[in-house]
Amino acid sequence: MSAQLSERTSPRPIGHYINGQHLPISGASVPSYNPASGVAIGAVALASSAEVDQAVQAAEAAFHAWSQTPPLKRARVMFRFKELIERDMDKLAATITREHGKVLSDAKGEVVRGLEVVEYACGIPELLKGDYTEQIANGIDAWTMRQPLGVCAGITPFNFPAMVPMWMFPMAIACGNSFVLKPSERDPSTALHLAELLKEAGLPDGVFNVVQGDKVAVDALLDHPKVRAVSFVGSTPIAEYIYARGTASGKRVQALGGAKNHMLVMPDADLNNAADALMGAGYGAAGERCMAISVAVAVGDATADALVAKLAPKVRALRIGNGMDEQVEMGPVITSQHRDKITGYIDDGVAAGAELVVDGRGHRVAGCEQGYFLGGSLFDRVTPTMRIYKEEIFGPVLCVVRVPDFASALKLVDEHMYGNGTAIFTHDGHVAREFAHRVQVGMIGINVPIPVPMAFHSFGGWKKSLMGDHHAHGPEAVRFYTRQKAVTQRWLAGASGNGAEFAMPTH
Ligand code: NAD
Repeated sequence: MSAQLSERTSPRPIGHYINGQHLPISGASVPSYNPASGVAIGAVALASSAEVDQAVQAAEAAFHAWSQTPPLKRARVMFRFKELIERDMDKLAATITREHGKVLSDAKGEVVRGLEVVEYACGIPELLKGDYTEQIANGIDAWTMRQPLGVCAGITPFNFPAMVPMWMFPMAIACGNSFVLKPSERDPSTALHLAELLKEAGLPDGVFNVVQGDKVAVDALLDHPKVRAVSFVGSTPIAEYIYARGTASGKRVQALGGAKNHMLVMPDADLNNAADALMGAGYGAAGERCMAISVAVAVGDATADALVAKLAPKVRALRIGNGMDEQVEMGPVITSQHRDKITGYIDDGVAAGAELVVDGRGHRVAGCEQGYFLGGSLFDRVTPTMRIYKEEIFGPVLCVVRVPDFASALKLVDEHMYGNGTAIFTHDGHVAREFAHRVQVGMIGINVPIPVPMAFHSFGGWKKSLMGDHHAHGPEAVRFYTRQKAVTQRWLAGASGNGAEFAMPTH
């Protein structure tokens, strides 16, 4: 199913945005594609280290005045930015669908989830309030304050071109920092649109900058002495690299990595509900979500048999096509190389002895023959030694693992190297409570398949899903993007000169 695609023939140049200006492409570029048509629609600039330096210098120059701007005034920019995002919601979503492939309603959903962080950032005067203690000793008071760091950088993945950057820069900027964003080179346009909206909202030039690019741009940010903090979201091998290189050059780094999210289905669960939840969480955005459920852990063979029987016809019936078509439930994956990689995983699962109940390989969409489509795939009887279980596939492939009891299910989740999200479907409150209490994972859903914390909580996984000490957005973002200062004050009344004290002051 899909509408026919018509694309302009010459790819649009997509450059950097530095100091409030779009810059023409001066050096190398790479094509970006519409994954539904396979047509090259953009020529994306690849920043040299000199161009990254230009962006960082612009951010450094803007930092002082912005950091001295009262938090209430910074919040007012965020209020206007929020209104402008709402105004341009449809355009932003269309850009995401054209470059990423996800369906339009899902693209709007990610803009809204990013917008919620902007709404939280509007409360920055309250969030930046420090602690105060009067009379910590006779005539002495103490307080803390949180101050911005300077230039912060964000390096983001392809799968949420609006939401993930908005996990970062609204909070960083509201805290008084300036920012350089390096979006994914596969869907680079949304970042530029957001930059224009920030300028229209009244943000001074240089406070927010976008450099397009690849490893060269990333390395230049990681090594730049004026970049104080780096927020990264992407795959685990790159997250580990970013964390090691960024911290080695003395930066504060939070690096969110990949995932393999398990959903436990207990024998007492409502299986219709669980199957619907698995469809959305497994195949939504073609499985290209860090919180996608890629493993269903069925407790007991009877649960597994019934669950697979409910899932298989639903997976076969998925409406797949161009995400611009409102009837479509699942769009293409991001590139032809990624489609081939996913197909390779499915081949591997079959060779390893897993039961391929629904085979999504070789799926074709009429009118979009050059698009990067796959059907949904469903594996049963997957075991923990298989590569399709151990590695993140990041595609529309759901693996069912059968276990005999809750203890084995918990052990399975705990022994996996990733710990981003997990869920349990059950009617038993005690089991659900035990699961949430004991499991070694950062975000837990109880009868909720994708437990993404709202903007006023923080988002982050455990184990190989996050390197660093702070989660994204929410209160943790205020801590990440500021430094705490503690002040101790005494004002002497009248005469001074009581003599020096050489012992540690104590009560
Ligand atoms: P990726 O790691 O390939 O790329 C992420 C960013 O790093 C991009 O901006 C890219 O240009 C840059 N990059 C890529 N290779 C690099 C290198 N060798 N050196 C320096 N920089 C490099 O990730 P992706 O394919 O864009 O996104 C998918 C991955 O992101 C998945 O693993 C997914 O689970 C993860 N992800 C995680 C979260 C989370 O919150 N934990 C959220 C979204 C996506």
